[in-house]
Order: sequence, then structure tokens, then C-alpha cells
Amino acid sequence: MIRDNFSKILREAMSEDSWVISEDQYDAKKNLQFESLFALSNGYMGIRGVQEEGNHPSLPYVYINGIFDKSETFMRELVTLPNWSELKFYVEKQLLSVERCAILEYRRALDLKTATLYKHVLLRDESGRESLIESVRFLSRENVHRMGLKVYFTPLNYDGILEIESSINGSILNFCDAPRFKVKHSVVTENSAKEDNIYLEVETRDDLLHIGTGASLHAYENGEEVLRNRRSSAFGEVALEFADCKVKEGKTVEILKYVSVFTEKDCERASIPASICKELKSFRDRGFTEEHQAHKKVYDAMWKRADIRIKGDFELDRAVRFNIFHLMSTASEYDDRVNVGAKLLSGEEYGGHAFWDTELFMLPFFSFVFPEKARRLEHYRYRLLDAARKNARKNGYQGAQYPWESADNGTEQCPDWTIEPDGSCYRCYVAKYEHHVTAAVMYGAYKYAETTGDTDFLYKEAAEIFVETARFWASRVLYNETLKLYEIREVTGPDEWHEPVNNNVYTNYLVKWCLRFVSSLITEMRDSREAEYRSLCEKLHFTEAEAEIWREISDKIYIPKKEGTKIFEQFEGYFDLYEVLIEKYDKNDWPVRPEILKTKSIPETQLIKQADVVMLMYLLGQEFDEETIRENYNYYEKRTLHGSSLSPSIYAIMGLKIGDSSKAYRYLRRAALLDLWNIQGNTREGIHAANTGGVWQTVVFGFAGLSLDENGELHLQPHMPKEWEELQFSIMHRGEATEITIKGDNSYTIRKREDHEV
Ligand code: BGC
Repeated sequence: MIRDNFSKILREAMSEDSWVISEDQYDAKKNLQFESLFALSNGYMGIRGVQEEGNHPSLPYVYINGIFDKSETFMRELVTLPNWSELKFYVEKQLLSVERCAILEYRRALDLKTATLYKHVLLRDESGRESLIESVRFLSRENVHRMGLKVYFTPLNYDGILEIESSINGSILNFCDAPRFKVKHSVVTENSAKEDNIYLEVETRDDLLHIGTGASLHAYENGEEVLRNRRSSAFGEVALEFADCKVKEGKTVEILKYVSVFTEKDCERASIPASICKELKSFRDRGFTEEHQAHKKVYDAMWKRADIRIKGDFELDRAVRFNIFHLMSTASEYDDRVNVGAKLLSGEEYGGHAFWDTELFMLPFFSFVFPEKARRLEHYRYRLLDAARKNARKNGYQGAQYPWESADNGTEQCPDWTIEPDGSCYRCYVAKYEHHVTAAVMYGAYKYAETTGDTDFLYKEAAEIFVETARFWASRVLYNETLKLYEIREVTGPDEWHEPVNNNVYTNYLVKWCLRFVSSLITEMRDSREAEYRSLCEKLHFTEAEAEIWREISDKIYIPKKEGTKIFEQFEGYFDLYEVLIEKYDKNDWPVRPEILKTKSIPETQLIKQADVVMLMYLLGQEFDEETIRENYNYYEKRTLHGSSLSPSIYAIMGLKIGDSSKAYRYLRRAALLDLWNIQGNTREGIHAANTGGVWQTVVFGFAGLSLDENGELHLQPHMPKEWEELQFSIMHRGEATEITIKGDNSYTIRKREDHEV
């Protein structure tokens, strides 16, 4: 039972329940999951929801987007940076922590509305002293170099001396709980007090890039500073500030930790410490509360654009908001050197790399809700076009080939080899064969321009991407003299459980579409965009003859299909595999792996990892008639194990397209609750970023049935589930904030918002 005291400080600060995700009981087994769920990011930095006093198990990771290092690992991965959140309290040498004391009350809560992490614990130590510790943590979105921590400390049944230890811990490792994979990506280069602040600077090992972190500690009672015996010390890789203060029964002391981080990418190396001291001073002068208010105001504006309200379905209403929260918090509105990693900035799986996940799962949300962030993501790919050219050359192709996994410099970051938990080496063929990301980059650029009307981008940067990726595909296909068709052999489609295969329909069809689209765009530019056309031809030495070849390949690319039916064959030979259908679902409504897998390996069967043919139908729906979509959906749905979080949302949307709304609702629940309920069992590794975007698309493109026609006009075709009384959300439609409200009976209103509402 949480006492009234909780309400006094924290409940007032928190929003209503549909905005709050909470952990109401301490369970060490769930620490890592909650660290991911409670991760905060302000687009510049991310920190997992680690406890300030450092409990176990923990992956106490702080990341800055775009800071990568390889060292002894297989690839450049996001560097774990010094943990600035450590703040420990001792009374008579007893550490007040959930692990060392009896927990009388416990609650942590993430307020999605204000991107603030709250904590309330009432602890009884071995001597029977009861201490109430309540904290507030945020990463300012207004000033992204400011991070704040505030603790209300109240001794409930004693007077004494509270000893406080605040540190910046540079002894951090990536994969710190996996002995085989542990790696240190940075070394401490400086640990010394600067002005009133503790200061720790590290350097990444490959690029020697410097990152500084500074912090200062303060405490007040009734507005008076109460800290005594302040001392800062450097303990190897840890910068530490110690202080104490007298505490009295029933009297609350407010303890503040102001933090600032700068890197050499933000300012000159030599001025990092000065930038941090200046930032900390401005932060303190402004005050924690004012900074927090300003941060909340930015979030308020973000939510005005991004929130989805579902009346009548509390659980989904909150779960959908949770997914949007993490997605919108991570992307940067000003930096085109960074993308959004497959686990956002909330965990280390996939090393912080960008995949096709960005273009096909997350970008639609940004294009419709935060077009300025979408533009940054597009520019990221354009900036790395040259690297993609080199990548193509390296692999023996022409044009530009985007890497399957992309970090900061555009080289392939998907390892050829990985080490399995048992120490054996595993040859990983994904980078070698999974080429469809190059089509996704092209498709994403086109969709971004279509959604936002950014023709400036379309006819310049995007046109370059289009031509170069078309060249890649033209060099990737092979002409089969017997069939008189073009083929793509040895390729992996979205379903990575069958790799490599010949003529994956998803890949071949996207290539067909891409080449057709690029040729017609070129013709359009030649006829009506003369200046841009000329500059494209000059820059890329492009000729009409090339476009002619692209048209021919597009017309003659092989698309395997079941004879006499409308069912596409996922790849050549798929229909000959052992037929297995999914029949059972677990308590989370997730497919149960069929028994036959005890004797047969997945590649021998027709079971697939994720939407593949159905993904194609989703992206290029206009190319197929309704019956084709229905037959393919019905066929592949029974064979999809959803081994990737990229799958359920796509099946939800496609289910709705074919009129099967009961399944769609179930799929949306699986996707929206995937991390909250740890359905895939790996939320500890971070939030599934693509899925968060998939959830948004399911509600907006699926249940609301939103689409734009070729003139950019907005259309809705709602399919409201019976559980929903009302659905409301906003999009930016051609520069205008537009609010859409759909009632339970599918009637709707579309309203342009006034400026003051945005
Ligand atoms: C999926 C890919 C996805 C990657 C990163 C894999 O499990 O099969 O489609 O891009 O995860 O999210």
C-alpha cells in the first residue's frame, strides 16, 4: 500500500493513469525488463531506467546517438558511456537500497506525458530506521545537454546524518553481464574536479573521440543549502562527490544532481569541460523545477502532434501511447548524422544500428507526425550515399548498395561471424544476401516525399538515391536465357529463416517497382523539371539508355507464383518444402512452435519468421487485386511464426484490408503489449523500435484506414473494433496539423487545427 506521502510529492507531479507505466513491486528478476521500459531519451542521449543506488542485475547503459566504436567486437556498436545516474545514500554506513533493506513501499513510474521517471521507496534498514526516498529524473528536451535528478529524502523515525555519494562511473562495459562478449569501448582520459563539479572525460578507443560528463550535487531544506563536508575525489575510472547533511525525523531534504554531457561532436575537444561547466551553471541558475517545466512544455507540444487516444479500451490506449513515447523520444530533430537504432537508445542488441526497420516501420510515423525528423532521417541516407556506392563496388556491383546494418559511416555493420553463447562461431549470411534494404531506402525516400510534399528533396537528393540504387539492382539481376526473364539468385527476403534463396518474391517485386518508378520519375523530370534533370545527368552521368534497361528489367523480372492460382511463391521451391500449419497459440496469443520442429529444421518447412509476401502486399497494395491479397494473406498467415517483432503489425493491417478485423485486433494487442508484457522474452535487450512504428501504422493506416491519393488528398476508411468508442489522433497533412476523430460506428470528422493548438 502506498501511503499518502507518496501522493504529496509524486502523485501531484504525475499525469493520470492512461499516461503512466508503473512497476508496483520490486522483483529483481524483472530489473532488466524495467530498465528498458523506463529508458529515457531526449533525441541526443538515452539512459536505461537504472536505479540510482545500483541494484542487480543491471545493464547501466548511457548512450549518445552516433557515438560508435568497434575495438575487439565484430562491428561498430553504440558505446556505453559513463553512468551519471549513480546517487547513493548511507546512514551510519548502511546503504539505503532495495537490496539491503526491507522494502515497505515501492513504486517506480514512467510518466509518458512528461518523459519523467518517478520513484517512491520506503525502506527499513537493519537498525529499524525508516527512510522515504522519492525521486524525479528527466533528460531535458529543451536543452539536450542537461540531465537532472532530484530526490526527496525523509527520515520517518529518526534524526541522524545522511551521507551522500554522487558519482560518474566510467568503469562501464558493453555486454557487461556476458563474460564472453564484454568489451570496453572507452578509456578515461581525465578525472578531476572542474569548478564546483566533478568531471570525467573518456575517449573512444578507435576514433579517439572525447566525451565529457560533469555533475554537481546540492541539497536544500526549506530553501537553505544544507550540504556539509563536500569533497570530490577521483577513484580511477570513477569521479565521486561526497557530502553529508543532518536530517531530522519527518523533515524532507531535497537533493539535486545536475548533470551535463558534451562530446567532441558538439564542440572543440579542448572546450568540452568549459562547455559543461557553463551548462551546469545555467542549469543551476535556472533551477531544476524551471528546467523540468520547460522540458514538459516541449513534450506537451510533441504530444499535441503525436498522441493517439482510444476511448473504451484503457489497456490499448496506454500501450499504444507507450510505443509512440519511445519512438518519438529517440529521433533527433536537428542531427542528420544519426538514425534510429533497432533498439532505440534503450539497449545494446543490434549495436544501435539502423535497418530497413527505419524506412518501412518508423519513417511513416515521422513523415506524418514530425516531418522535420523524417527529413533528418532521409538526409542521413543521403549523406551516406557515397559509402553505399563504395559498398556496392566492394561487393562487385554498380550504383549504391545500402548496408543491411548501418551505424555512423555507412559501411556494412552486420558481422559476417558471430559467437554463440556456447563459444562456437556462427557464419552470419545476412549482410551477404539480405539486399532488400536498398529497395527500402528508395521506397522510404519516395514515401517521405509523397507524404510531406517535399519535392525539393524528391527531385534532388532523392533522385540521386533513386538513380544509384537502380544501378545497383540493374547490376544485381541476372538474365536467364531459358526463361527469358531476369532473376535475383542467392538472396534473402524478410523471412531470414530461409537463406539464401532464389527469386524471393518480396525482393524481386520491389525491384520491379523501384526500376519502374525511377524510370518514370526520370521521364517526368526530363519533361517538366529541366534544371534538376540536367543537374542529375551531369552529376551522375546518367543516360536515357540506362532508363531503357531499367524498364526492360522491370517488365521481365521473374515473379514465382503457384500455377493457376493467385498465390505467390515466397521463393523458388518454397511450395516443395514440408507443409506445417500453425494451430496453437500461447497465453499471450502468440503462435506456439509446432511439434514437428523437434524433428525437422525450420528451413526444411514452410514456416516463416515474419511477413514476407504479405509485407510486399502491404507496401505495394495498389499492384494487387483484393482477391490476390486475401488469398496470400490466408495462405501465409497460417505459416508465420512471428519470430520477429516486425511481423504482427503488418498482419494486423493486412487482416483489416481483407476484412478480418477480429484477427487484426489480436495482432494489434500483441504488437502494442510486446515490450510491456515482455512477450518475446527479450525486452531486457531494449525496446523493439520497428514494432513501435508498426503499432502506430496499425492504428492509423489499419484501423483508421488513412491513406493519401496521388493528389495528396486525405482518405479514411475506418474499421473500428467493437471495443473502441472513439479514436482520435493528429497528423501533419501538407504542413497543416489535422485532427481526426472516428466514432465507434466508423463515422468521422477531419478538422484542421488552429496554430495555437499545435
Ligand atoms: C528481423 C529483421 C529486422 C532485424 C532488426 C530481425 O530479427 O528479422 O527484419 O530488421 O531483426 O530489427
